[in-house]
Amino acid sequence: MRPRPHYGDRDMGRIVYLNGDYLPEEEAKVSVFDRGFLFADAVYEVTSVLDGKIIAFDGHVKRLQRSCDELGIDYQVNEDELMEVHRQLVAKNDLKEGMIYLQLTRGNPGDRDFVYPPADTPVTLVLFTQTANLLDNPKIKTGMKVISVEDQRWSRRDIKTVQLLYPSMAKMAAKAAGVDDAWMIEDGHVTEGSSNNAYIVKDGKIITRHLGNEILHGITRAAVLAYAKSAQMEVEERAFTIEEAKAADEAFITSASTFVMPVVEIDGVTLGDGTPGESALRLRELYLEESRKQAV
Ligand code: PMP
Repeated sequence: MRPRPHYGDRDMGRIVYLNGDYLPEEEAKVSVFDRGFLFADAVYEVTSVLDGKIIAFDGHVKRLQRSCDELGIDYQVNEDELMEVHRQLVAKNDLKEGMIYLQLTRGNPGDRDFVYPPADTPVTLVLFTQTANLLDNPKIKTGMKVISVEDQRWSRRDIKTVQLLYPSMAKMAAKAAGVDDAWMIEDGHVTEGSSNNAYIVKDGKIITRHLGNEILHGITRAAVLAYAKSAQMEVEERAFTIEEAKAADEAFITSASTFVMPVVEIDGVTLGDGTPGESALRLRELYLEESRKQAV
C-alpha cells in the first residue's frame, strides 16, 4: 500500500469509491448534470471508525434505506455489499480512527430538469474516508459552547439529505460568535444542533426532543438513550425550550463522530459549574464501551 500523506486536517491521496470502482481521489469524477450537484437530490450517512472497525453500521444502512424510500429514490440497500465497500475503504486507506462518508444521489439524467428522471436512472454512489481523532477530541475536557439560532431548515429533517447550507451557516454564526456550535430553535423550542442531537439534564433526568419530522433520528441518539435506560438513568423524550436549557444542570450532544459531547455554555449562560457534566461523561463512557464491543 502506498503511504497516505495527511496535510493539516485534510487527508490526501485517498482511495475513494465511486459507482463500483476504487479510485485515487483525483480521478473520481461526477457529472455536472448529477442531481446531487444541481438539486441537492441526494442522501448521505457518516459512520465512524474506531480501531479500524465500523461503529453502528446496521443503524446507518437502515436509515439510508429509509431516506431513499421517503424521497422515492429507487435504491435497495444490499447490506453485505455496502459493508464490503466500507471494509475495503478502511483497508485501502489504512484508516484506524475517523469516519466513512457515504453519499447517494438520484443520479445523472444528462440534463437539468426539475422532474425526476426515470426510476431506472442509475444512482450515483460515493464513499470516502476521513481521518479524525474521535477519542481524543479536546472538547471532552472543556465541554462545548453553543449559541442558539433560528431553525430555518426545511420541514423534513428526518430525511438525511445533503441540503446542508443552513446548518453550515449556523456553524459559521457559531464560529463568528467564538463558540463551537449552534442549537436551532423553532417556536422557542430546541430542535437539534447543526449536525447533532441536543440534550439537557435536569434533576438527574435526561431530556431530548421526541422523534418526528423536525429532527434527524440520530443513530447515536437511539443507542445512547437505550444505554441510559439500561443504566437506570431517567429519560424524557419531549421538546424543551431554550430557557429551560439555560437553566439546566447539564447539556450535551450526540452524533456519530462526536459520540457524546458535553455542552457547558448556551448563549453565554454557564451551565452548572461550567465543566462537563457527570451524566454526559458517564453516557460517553457507556456508549464507547458498548459500541466498541459491537464494532465490526
Ligand atoms: N442531527 C443532525 C442535523 C445531524 O446532521 C446529525 C449527524 N449527521 C445528527 C443529528 C446525529 O445523527 P447520528 O447520531 O446518526 O450521527
